[in-house]
Amino acid sequence: MSTTLSTWSRKNPFPAPLRVNRKLTGPGSEKDTRHFELSLAGSGLNYEVGDSLGVFASNEPELVDDIVRALKATGDEEVAGSDGQPKPLREALLNDYAIKQPSKQFLAALSERAGDNAPLLRELLQPERKGDLDEYLWGMEIIDFLSDHPSVEFPLDAFIKTLRKQIPRLYSIASSLKARPEQVDLTVATVVYESHGRTRKGVASTFLAERVAIGSPVPVFIHTAKGFRLPEDPSTPIIMVGPGTGVAPFRAYLQERQATGATGRNWLFFGEQRHTEDFLYREEFEAFQGDGILTRFDTAFSRDQAQKVYVQHRMQEHAAELWRWIDEGAHLYVCGDAARMAKDVDATLHAIVCEQGGKSSDEAAVYIEELKKIKRYKRDVY
Ligand code: NAP
Repeated sequence: MSTTLSTWSRKNPFPAPLRVNRKLTGPGSEKDTRHFELSLAGSGLNYEVGDSLGVFASNEPELVDDIVRALKATGDEEVAGSDGQPKPLREALLNDYAIKQPSKQFLAALSERAGDNAPLLRELLQPERKGDLDEYLWGMEIIDFLSDHPSVEFPLDAFIKTLRKQIPRLYSIASSLKARPEQVDLTVATVVYESHGRTRKGVASTFLAERVAIGSPVPVFIHTAKGFRLPEDPSTPIIMVGPGTGVAPFRAYLQERQATGATGRNWLFFGEQRHTEDFLYREEFEAFQGDGILTRFDTAFSRDQAQKVYVQHRMQEHAAELWRWIDEGAHLYVCGDAARMAKDVDATLHAIVCEQGGKSSDEAAVYIEELKKIKRYKRDVY
């Protein structure tokens, strides 16, 4: 039951005070993955494990300053906010609009204003050059185009009209209300990288990691995910595959299954780069193991040896037992990277169903399709 009597919603987000901002990765890690705890006290908000939290982030003030400067403005000029109401340019750029990835309208408006000074952009905006344009845009942000064309005069209203509304980011919830009342936890990898000579920051991940002080409010709402629920029968075994931040909902599942005394067996596959630096929630998962909640726990640390070892390699190593669990009715969950991991895990699952289940490739495909249909194979990938 995740519907609530609360008046808070996506349209009217709850200002949830940030309670905890803790680094999960070690000093030698290539990543900065963090654990956040937000208070829902007094909100009346409820969620189920498997749900996500929508976070409305504000943009980086430094980037806003750079854009204001590039527009030859002061920031105090009045423009239309995303709700149509007038507000100062700086405030609109901070809170209302997406100010990183350029929209098609922005590129077209810039090309028109730059004329012969931007021949490449004009060329790439031809419909038949879409593929080349996408490649050219990789890692390019609005500020790069404004900086590269300082002679372009962009009236503020015209510029604002080319911007998209700031949209909330959804993060898988990493806690259970039954174990952590009036609280919501997140597991978020801070996105920071270099391109075209600038440091780029993921809007919401760096907002949470760097720009919200402890005790300050974060505008949030609950995004229900009915397709990523625990089995209704608490005695049903579950298999969870969650490398990286994909482990977040499985921490929530384990909390929930412990809090409710669910008797079903739980098997977790977790993967990250290095055992010493990137073992997210190590103590908690080992405690779940000690308590008998986590029946099986297999880890794959990809960079601890010359050859990459991923979660699907561990699945393959334990193919016979994995098949036994599936055959006995286990529900299978996959969370994390969509582009590569989820596809490879799916291919491994096919291979296991073929080899262990004695099925042809086509029969395995039908079998897995059926698992999806009856909601025994569920994915939350991004
Ligand atoms: P992550 O980048 O998914 O990494 C977690 C673990 O998964 C690492 O040990 C990584 O190994 C491994 N991994 C890499 N390719 C894999 C594959 N094909 N199959 C199975 N495991 C694989 O973790 P994260 O830090 O949570 O990622 C944060 C965000 O970045 C996510 O949104 C993710 O989708 C995104 N991301 C996307 C890409 C991409 O190219 N699509 C790349 C990185 C991150 P190695 O890193 O040692 O290979």
